[in-house]
Amino acid sequence: MRIVRRGMAPTRDDSTRSALTIAQQQLDDTARAMGLPDSTRRFLRELKRELVVHFPVEMDDGSFRVFTGFRVQHNIARGPAKGGLRYHPRVTLDDVRALAMYMTWKSAVVDLPFGGAKGGVICDPKALSLTELERMTRRFTTEISIIIGPDRDIPAPDLGTGPDVMAWIMDTLSMHAGYSVAASVTGKPTAIGGSEGRYGATGRGLVIVTQLAMRDHGMDATGATVAVQGFGKVGAVTAELLAAAGMKVVAVSDSSGGVHRDTGLDVSALRALKDEGGRLADYGAADRISNDELLTLDVDVLVPAALEAQISGSLAQRMRARLIAEGANAPIDPEADAVLAEQGTVVVPDILANAGGIIVSYFEWVQDLQAYFWAAGEVNARLKEVMVRSYEHVRARAQELDVTMRSAAYQIAVERVAAASEVRGIYP
Ligand code: NAD
Repeated sequence: MRIVRRGMAPTRDDSTRSALTIAQQQLDDTARAMGLPDSTRRFLRELKRELVVHFPVEMDDGSFRVFTGFRVQHNIARGPAKGGLRYHPRVTLDDVRALAMYMTWKSAVVDLPFGGAKGGVICDPKALSLTELERMTRRFTTEISIIIGPDRDIPAPDLGTGPDVMAWIMDTLSMHAGYSVAASVTGKPTAIGGSEGRYGATGRGLVIVTQLAMRDHGMDATGATVAVQGFGKVGAVTAELLAAAGMKVVAVSDSSGGVHRDTGLDVSALRALKDEGGRLADYGAADRISNDELLTLDVDVLVPAALEAQISGSLAQRMRARLIAEGANAPIDPEADAVLAEQGTVVVPDILANAGGIIVSYFEWVQDLQAYFWAAGEVNARLKEVMVRSYEHVRARAQELDVTMRSAAYQIAVERVAAASEVRGIYP
């Protein structure tokens, strides 16, 4: 396979542009490349529904604070909206809009019967007690309950949220309904209808496509060097599974900073440190490394699995990784994407690379609706089947059109969503 491919159009300085503007630009570029009717493009670049809520929560000391949260649905032409909930101090409506749009494309590229949504609350979950977090989650759930539900919009974990938050959401919605509504969220504990294999699904899927891309580009997995930015639900599992596959994880980072060791890190020890509530910065058996240093390491595989917009055009010029598998959503801005395509860096795009989470979320939703649960082996086998099929489809399209995998993935996704929207027609 030739490596240098036409990607999405390079743009002006992306650091000054909003996440939504970038997401819309990506759609515009895709629409132009595939000759999408302009009316369809204009429809798809808007968000269907946006809810902003401000709500009070009682703190443990008896005072109350007012929080702001969002739930945004981009498109529901192919099925109920689906997407994560983010608890982060800097989450904005603009970010949530862009992320909702990415969720539509992600569901479509792996051919799930879902649309795209995203939500979040502006808060620092680490600064809240467990009881404050629960009260905030239950009140936020109540506020957005007017637009979410198992047939309408199904939340899932994202940055700063996990199974405990999902359990509170499920319980709150069930209390309102008067019966258990297991299919109302995914990423729940298995005790209340969560799926086996959901926690590690995004990392597992990412490792599957990384190995396929390495195979296609003649890269030997054994001993291949890896750097992972972000050591949470996606990053830590990915690092562990890549190490288990015989690769050498030489650097990882979290919000406290990064650690680096040329001979390879003990990923299990780092995971244990995090599970005990520690920070990577406290790990003594490796050198400290900055975020930029980690991203520009000379490694075979780089996995950005922290936040959006981590790799700018100027940073990309200094990057030396041969393959980048995007664990986070939109970690590479379009200007950087163009630089990387020009440099011949293989990029497995977010909407494909990190789709494992939504795929197993879909399996969880299906199991809840049927009240019939699958063993972990079955979940993982079905995940692999969908990831491999989707990867091969994207790769074949990239080869056929001589474009990057990102362009190919977007074209497949937009084609499917446009087809569903067009065949449904305009109501009334
Ligand atoms: P998480 O909260 O479990 O972990 C995030 C990690 O990133 C933490 O280790 C945090 O310390 C670290 N981090 C934050 N800022 C950082 C910085 N500036 N530099 C280095 N590390 C930093 O979140 P997650 O669920 O692992 O999600 C990570 C990314 O993957 C997000 O962009 C999310 O949208 C995306 N994603 C998650 C899933 C999923 O199933 N959880 C699925 C698809 C995409």
